Amino acid sequence: MTGKKAECLDGCGMCCLCQPEVLPAERAFFKKNHPRCLVRAKGPEPYFALALKNDRGSCVFLNDERRCRVYDHRTTYCKQFPYHIYVSDHVKVELDLSCRGLWTGKGVDAITEAKVLVANAQERIEATLPEATEVYHEFYSEAREAGIMSDPSAIRMSVSENLSSFTDPMFLGRLLDLAEMEAQVDISGAKKDRKIDMDELSEAARETAMDSLSSEDLLNLAVYGAEDLSWNVFNADGNTIEWMEIGNDGEFHHKGFADADKIKLQPLEDDGKKVLRDYIAVLNGRDSFLGSVYYLMAENGYEDDLSNAYYGSLATAVLDIMWRASLLDKFFGTGMGARGIREAIIFYDMDRLDAPTIGAFV
Ligand code: SF4
Ligand code: SF4
Repeated sequence: MTGKKAECLDGCGMCCLCQPEVLPAERAFFKKNHPRCLVRAKGPEPYFALALKNDRGSCVFLNDERRCRVYDHRTTYCKQFPYHIYVSDHVKVELDLSCRGLWTGKGVDAITEAKVLVANAQERIEATLPEATEVYHEFYSEAREAGIMSDPSAIRMSVSENLSSFTDPMFLGRLLDLAEMEAQVDISGAKKDRKIDMDELSEAARETAMDSLSSEDLLNLAVYGAEDLSWNVFNADGNTIEWMEIGNDGEFHHKGFADADKIKLQPLEDDGKKVLRDYIAVLNGRDSFLGSVYYLMAENGYEDDLSNAYYGSLATAVLDIMWRASLLDKFFGTGMGARGIREAIIFYDMDRLDAPTIGAFV
C-alpha cells in the first residue's frame, strides 16, 4: 500500500451498510444513550452490533445526508475502515479497495494511519495471534505431509514478474486448463501459444461472478457503491440479472434487467490493463488472499499443490473482475478502460471480504 492515501467522501456512507461490531469497552455509551440501537448480531459467534434501519438498511446512526450522528463515539470498526488488520502467523494491514476514498489520491498517508491502527489494536491482536499461528502451523505440517507445499514466495515472485500476462484472458484460460490437468503448475506452460475458446472462457467467468450475485437474501449480496455514491446490488436469478438500488431505509428499488448470457468478456483498453495489473499486484501481496488459497487446499483434502491452487485462484479472480467490468459497463456505461476496471475492482473487493481464509481479521 506504499504511496496510498485515504480520505472519507462526504455523503458516501457505504461502509455504514456493514453492521459494525461494538467492542465491550464501547458498549457503555450505546447502552446508556441509545439502548435500542445495540443489538445481538446473528452468526456462528453472536456479537453486539449497531442496529440497522428497518433491520436491513444502513446503520441507524447514518442520517439522511449520510453523515454519522454519533461520529465521536463511532465504533473501532467504523474508524478502522477501509483498513483491515489481518492476523495469520504474523500481522499485516490490508486496504479495502471497495472504499472509493482510496481512489482519489488525496487524504492521509495510509501507512502512517495503519501503524496507528495496529498500535491501537494490540489487545485484539494479542488475543488472536496465538490461535491463528497454531492454525497456520497445523496447515503447513499437513500440507507438507501431503507433499503439496510449494514455496509461496517463489510463486508470488513469479506472479510479480508476469503481471502483464495476468491481464490477458488467453493466458488466464491456459492457466486454468493447466490447473485442471496438472497437480503442479508451472507458469511458463501457460505462455505457450495455444488458442482458447473465448466463448467458453467467458462462460466460466460469468459462472464464477454469478455465484456471488445470487442469494435468497438480498441483504447478503455485495454492494457496489457507484460513482454517484448510490448503493447498488445485482441479483442473479437463472440467467437474468436484476439491478437494484438500495435506499437509505434499506428498501430495494428496481433499476433494470440484463440477460447474463449476453454479457461477455470484452477486450481491455491499455489503461484498464494497467489498473488491473496494479490490483493483481495488490492481491498477490495480500496475506488474506494466500490464506484463502490455503483454505481451499484444506477444503479439498490437501489434494492440490499450492502452485495449482494459487494460480487457479488468481486466474479465477481476474476473470471475475473482467466479467464484472462488462456487467457494470452494461448498466453504467463505465467501459473497459481505467474507469471501468477501477469500478469492477471497487465492486469485487467488497466480495473478497467474505472469502473464507484460514487467518482472521481483527
Ligand atoms: S466507504 Fe470509504 S469513503 Fe465511503 S464512507 Fe466508508 S470510509 Fe468513507
Ligand atoms: S456508527 Fe456512524 S460511522 Fe459507524 S456505521 Fe453507524 S453511521 Fe456509520
